[in-house]
Amino acid sequence: MVYKRLGILGGGQLGRMSAQAAKKLGIEVVIYTPEQDSPAAEVASETMVGAYDDQAALKEFSEKVDVISYEFENIPVETVRYLNNLKPVYPDDRLLEVAQDRIKEKTYLNSIGIPTARWASVSNYSEAEETLKASSTKALILKTIRFGYDGKGQVKIEPGDDIRNAFGQLNSNQIIAEEMIDFKCEISVIVSRGANGTMEFYGPMLNKHKNHILHKTIVPAPIDPNLAREAVEITQKLAERINLRGVLALEMFVTNDGKILANEIAPRTHNSGHWSIDACTVSQFENHVRTVCGLDAAPQNRHSAAEMINLIGDDVLHLGAYKDQENACVHLYGKHDIKPGRKMGHVTILKPLTRETPE
Ligand code: AMP
Repeated sequence: MVYKRLGILGGGQLGRMSAQAAKKLGIEVVIYTPEQDSPAAEVASETMVGAYDDQAALKEFSEKVDVISYEFENIPVETVRYLNNLKPVYPDDRLLEVAQDRIKEKTYLNSIGIPTARWASVSNYSEAEETLKASSTKALILKTIRFGYDGKGQVKIEPGDDIRNAFGQLNSNQIIAEEMIDFKCEISVIVSRGANGTMEFYGPMLNKHKNHILHKTIVPAPIDPNLAREAVEITQKLAERINLRGVLALEMFVTNDGKILANEIAPRTHNSGHWSIDACTVSQFENHVRTVCGLDAAPQNRHSAAEMINLIGDDVLHLGAYKDQENACVHLYGKHDIKPGRKMGHVTILKPLTRETPE
């Protein structure tokens, strides 16, 4: 069954780039978002502006489409469950639920044998203090279990710190305390998986952050090929065990002693895969649309190495550097207001495939 009308919850740049990919495949996209003038609305066939708990509007949305997906993970699970009674939603609510809650996420990853940083659930500052004392690492990261992103809802604690004050900054008593990993680098792998189990992988990518926001992605990640293989195998295991349909990204650490630890699951297309629009024949967005709409995951056929740089806030005012660079592909998301920390676009610099950068 191939669906021809795709509904996407969320109107950001990920929805926009999936809608652009859908157009290429002759699939119509209807966006549902609480936001007026969203980046995705500019390219979708139709946009409905509504709240995620407005059941009448959600029902109307479901009647316009054959199948539904989402472009960010903070959509209420109840919204997805409600819609799933009306039309199929992919990825399913179970993956969304796991990805929304850092304790469920780490519990699930560990239960299927995927290693993470050692962690504990803590609900007050003295539990955090005890966990730090019992830990073999020098520091812990305390994270709110929900709605943390770009370093928000996180604080590092070390012996001697005012832990009561640090804990208080999180404004929550549902906290995960993770051992601080002394990592060599951060990587990610993206997988798309179709209804019949066909899978296609992007990466691993090497990711560099600035002020907790992804700044640069390099593909292929310059890491030991055995580690690269292991990162893909871990992502494959996750996709199979959770019975993925659609796309997910797995963010991982490579430790200084050569281990891979999973950190976070994104149940959607991912910023570290934007280079695939220009460096592959089938991008992560196209495979998102394909797999959700009932097609196989298609071979991505990466033909170049690439470096992707995010245009954050004012960066978008300084595009001159790329103007004369024939291998630079600039993408802007149509956001009207420039704000500090806001992702306004990205640039992919294509590079030749060399022996050092094999697929
Ligand atoms: P997260 O929201 O979990 O993706 O964390 C944001 C960033 O904080 C990561 O990209 C890492 O740079 C850093 N970080 C998160 N967890 C840890 C950890 N357990 N040890 C060291 N660094 C971490």
